[in-house]
Amino acid sequence: MNTSRTPKLEPLKISCTDTDCDADLHCFLQKKRRGPHSANGPCRDCGVDLVEWARVQARDIDDVQYTFDALRRERIRHEFWHRDFDESAVNYARRKGRRALEDDTIEKRIRSSVGRGDNHHEGRQTPYTGNVIYYAQHALACCCRRCIEYWHGIEPNRDLTDEEVAYLKALIQNYLRRRITWLRDEPEKIPRRNRTHE
Ligand SMILES: [Zn+2]
Ligand SMILES: [Zn+2]
Repeated sequence: MNTSRTPKLEPLKISCTDTDCDADLHCFLQKKRRGPHSANGPCRDCGVDLVEWARVQARDIDDVQYTFDALRRERIRHEFWHRDFDESAVNYARRKGRRALEDDTIEKRIRSSVGRGDNHHEGRQTPYTGNVIYYAQHALACCCRRCIEYWHGIEPNRDLTDEEVAYLKALIQNYLRRRITWLRDEPEKIPRRNRTHE
């Protein structure tokens, strides 16, 4: 029995709290909370203080370039800004087309994975492969409520508001437009791989 659908893909050895401070890639989640609103702060390993949190947490899509630059200072986010998409993720996007992705799919994914305040399993509900939106979620700290809290300043124990969903959706749209310039507006016919041996 073949249990792996993407046997060529190396497992991704990275976690949210990894750092590579010598390469200027950090992690801003604090080891211990210093108060109700201080889940973030200087790098937990080297102590460098790089992010204007009030500016990121203003959640102003017109300031998206600052937010993107700040996110990329974190090891895990940087990885998902630059890592090549796996084949399943690429095919998924092409089968959907940009219009359906942007009109519908991104928002559904946000609501189902991180929309609710009472149903979150930090760091585990967003896979690392198989969908370009997963890459975007890790790159943009929209992968779980813990990351959403310390990056975007949204408390974890309640449902996201429509406004918050709209903001996260806009971040993901921006990311996808920058990274997937080749995507057509309309769906493409991509043959599915033979999976009869599973
Ligand atoms: Zn560091
Ligand atoms: Zn996360």
